[in-house]
Amino acid sequence: MNFPRLTFPLTVDFGDTEYWIREQGPFKYGAAVTAFFIGEDIGPVSNDGIPLMHKLEHQLQTFGSHLQPYAREREIDAATFLCPEGQAVGCSVCFAFHPTDGCTGIMTERYTFSSLHDFLFVELGKSILRGNAPRQCRLCGRWFLHEQGDRAMYCERIAPGEESKTCREAGARAVFEKKIQDEDTWKLYKRAYKKYYARYMKGNMSEADFKAWATQAAADRDAAIEQITPEIDAALKAQIIEQLREKLNRQ
Ligand SMILES: [Zn+2]
Repeated sequence: MNFPRLTFPLTVDFGDTEYWIREQGPFKYGAAVTAFFIGEDIGPVSNDGIPLMHKLEHQLQTFGSHLQPYAREREIDAATFLCPEGQAVGCSVCFAFHPTDGCTGIMTERYTFSSLHDFLFVELGKSILRGNAPRQCRLCGRWFLHEQGDRAMYCERIAPGEESKTCREAGARAVFEKKIQDEDTWKLYKRAYKKYYARYMKGNMSEADFKAWATQAAADRDAAIEQITPEIDAALKAQIIEQLREKLNRQ
């Protein structure tokens, strides 16, 4: 990801959907905390960042569990949940126009942080508010930034033991090999793939659009496969299949 290395005190302009660090940016919400989880050196921190990592994970686990960050389920900590003030950070806030190209700028919340701890704590909280969060790849276990609405459970690094396949590509196969894949899901996906591929070959769909469709379709398919476990009842399964049909054919 390559997040810049930060120095403190640090001034950050938080906008609605992205933020700026002095003149640098815009950055996606969750980009800094994900870079830190990956192990990038993004600023001064004590003890190799391990205590801070634990604290942030604790926060993610408590307030971001609906974003499915962890490969293995973790319990929500009741103490933090009921008494969030215990985790409070101190920073100063004002409102300011952040200059953007061609206009005066957009209104932002300008925070000044005195430490990496305080900045990451606020960045993580604001990310969760917007549906973004670091997510652990279900195949290799490494962190990637999951953005709101993105259902991919696998990262886009080269998968363990593979030469060129990414976790996202190999992940679908791993699911397949675990035999929890669902025949109906695959039929739907293959049919939709043929339809859009034909559209693209005829020149009725651009290559970029087709690629974007294919990436999203594979993610939707995998998400449906993950939901369809042997335990769920027929009605719920039918509902998941129907939702997948709509998603795959929405363009
Ligand atoms: Zn991965």
